[in-house]
Amino acid sequence: MPESLQKIYIQVAVALPISDTFTYTVTGELIEEVAVGKRALVPFSGRKITAYILRIIPPGKRKGIKDIITVIDTRPLFPPQMVEFFEWLSHYYLYPIGLVIKGALPAGLNVRIPDRTRMPSRGWLDRVGLLKMVFITLKKGTTIDRSLFDRKRLPRNEDEFLEMMIKKKEVSLREINSVFSNGAYLADKWVRKGFLKKTRRTVARDILDETLFIPTKPPPLNSKQKEVAERINEKLRDNTFFTYLLYGITDSGKTEVYYHAVRAAKELGKQSIIMVPEIALTVSMASLFKARFKDRVAILHSALSTGERYDQWIRIAKGDADVVIGARSALFAPLPRLGLIIVDEEHDLSYKQEEKFRYQARDAAIMRAKLSDAVIILGSGTPSVQSYQNAAIGKYGLLTMPKRILKRELPEIQVIDMAKLKRGSAAQDESIMSPPLKEAIEENLTQKKQTILFLNRRGFSSLYLCRFCGETIRCPNCEVSLTYHKYGNNLLCHYCGFSIKPPKRCPSCNSEDLKPYGFGTQRVAQVLESLFPKARVERMDRDTMRRKGEAQQVLKRFMQHETDILVGTQMVTKGHDFPDVTLVGVISADLSLNYPDFRAGEITFQLLSQVAGRTGRGNMPGKVIIQTFNPSHYAITATKDHDYTKFFSREIALRRQVNYPPFSLIAYVRFLGNSKTKTEKIAAHIGMKIRNTIKQQSKRKNAVEVLGPVEAPMAKLKGKYRQQILIKSRTSRYLNQLLKDVESFSTQILSSSGVRMIIDVDPYQMM
Ligand SMILES: [Zn+2]
Ligand SMILES: [Zn+2]
Repeated sequence: MPESLQKIYIQVAVALPISDTFTYTVTGELIEEVAVGKRALVPFSGRKITAYILRIIPPGKRKGIKDIITVIDTRPLFPPQMVEFFEWLSHYYLYPIGLVIKGALPAGLNVRIPDRTRMPSRGWLDRVGLLKMVFITLKKGTTIDRSLFDRKRLPRNEDEFLEMMIKKKEVSLREINSVFSNGAYLADKWVRKGFLKKTRRTVARDILDETLFIPTKPPPLNSKQKEVAERINEKLRDNTFFTYLLYGITDSGKTEVYYHAVRAAKELGKQSIIMVPEIALTVSMASLFKARFKDRVAILHSALSTGERYDQWIRIAKGDADVVIGARSALFAPLPRLGLIIVDEEHDLSYKQEEKFRYQARDAAIMRAKLSDAVIILGSGTPSVQSYQNAAIGKYGLLTMPKRILKRELPEIQVIDMAKLKRGSAAQDESIMSPPLKEAIEENLTQKKQTILFLNRRGFSSLYLCRFCGETIRCPNCEVSLTYHKYGNNLLCHYCGFSIKPPKRCPSCNSEDLKPYGFGTQRVAQVLESLFPKARVERMDRDTMRRKGEAQQVLKRFMQHETDILVGTQMVTKGHDFPDVTLVGVISADLSLNYPDFRAGEITFQLLSQVAGRTGRGNMPGKVIIQTFNPSHYAITATKDHDYTKFFSREIALRRQVNYPPFSLIAYVRFLGNSKTKTEKIAAHIGMKIRNTIKQQSKRKNAVEVLGPVEAPMAKLKGKYRQQILIKSRTSRYLNQLLKDVESFSTQILSSSGVRMIIDVDPYQMM
């Protein structure tokens, strides 16, 4: 054998925070085992570490190249087509390629998996669709005597457990376990005593453990759905990259269109990915596909166990799945014949990962489709401004589905002008609960219907508002709301650093009624309790939902109508179907309308539309009441009229005027440190260097704008002081190059400073 065949060269990425790739040699028997997409164990700075094989490369004039130690996997974890995608992600989001791949692969892989490990292939099938569950039932004819409760030496919770059994008669073992840590023991004990009975039944599951009806036979498409499906088929047959925006209102039948698209792709021998914004939503989507495609469906999201994820991953890599359904991480499904990607609810902010590798999964999906010559469908009832603009200028194909399938009425939306109200009455609680909202809740309670009250807060309420005309003070440069800082008693722009003392009088109406504004869900719940002492009220927000599974318990109680009023933040807005909810109240639209964020209008419109969609899902028509000091703001009036295009035309004009995305690209450079002065100093130093860098490259001068450094709206978070620099650029290439320069010159400035720098490209988190 000639020497060249006894030795090959490979390019690898290592799972370390290093942006470079490395070359190793492979000799002897390992040559046959090496393949792109497998992991190898390599020597690296005196250690043995995991490396991902990116390419087999031709030998060059290389010296001192080390041999790999071994090949870890028996089969590739990703197809060669994905290497270019990983490289793009690493380049665009400035994140080390080895860590991009590590994050993409199922967790737990970095320990060495023994060769020939085979996970049982059944487990995941049971996670959706039909599922056998154990129920504990009160035996017929037996009563549990309350005197049992009084006996001594009962294990803790035993009386509560028995009370629950008496009240509910039948409870799933899973529910018992979720309530009592010793649930299995308690159930067994009382089964042995002959009071309770254990049964096993097949049920369909969804996140709330409610039975889910799954029609296995697809319903016939209506003419609009057919037309849309046909336009998608056309592009699928072309075998080239194409992006569609599917703008379809809630209940317009998007899911059936998705199903037909996936089926059409399958008939062409192509595989599909469906992404949904939340793990909880994968279950209902997967149930539908599972019922129709049987075991050709795979599921990928971070709530699967390590074994399950690994198993799913290998099935996908082997080509055993026609469609992969999942949250953000489904983007990385190792499909070798990818022909279609569907991003459902494309406007949803959860597509942006906000830690470590800060990618935007929808945007990245478009790039993956491009690199795979695939068709991508972005679906939404309230499309992002960016996507709709791309459709408007012809970059994307626009598909619209403007009508509800079941011809259910859209909810009636009433807007309450809180400023007007204040003039009439001075009652304190009325600024939280206006008389019309109060009356509507009262009536709903009498009718035995349920109410959702929504308060958008996100732990941030430093808003300075004129109670008379509803104006907030905005930055003259950036058009975003200024944030009130109690500490220094000033109003600050978190984009450019503009700062003023709070004026005594409102600049637009001259009223003196200008003051900080804000309250939380707790306050709302208190007001409810005093107004409706008999109503069953529950709160759902980050403060009350610390424990795992707590949110689902609250939603479940609400679903079963054990609660009359649910007060909550964003958590209550998504995906759930509550047929008894006929009233939704938005306590204050102003809180999101005045985020220090250029997307404040967009976020408000999407949130309000989404919240409004929570009502009237049963047979009764729904009603929505929005309380605001800004009743004439276009985001509010467009929501009231269910008019997306009206909202869009106003919003896009504003973005163009102030040069925000989609008319520019932005990035944040953030600084986090334990010491306030040190963090400020480093941020100022790097800010100055960024400006100098731009000055030196005359071509860039007009294309890039640097704002800051300035204190972040949440100036201190988790013990770290935060500073930020905002960079706006006309082109993505300039921005990327500049950020690479920033990264390289900052290494030295940051070293042993105790300050960490984070680069966030296309940021969504402005706080
Ligand atoms: Zn005013
Ligand atoms: Zn500003």
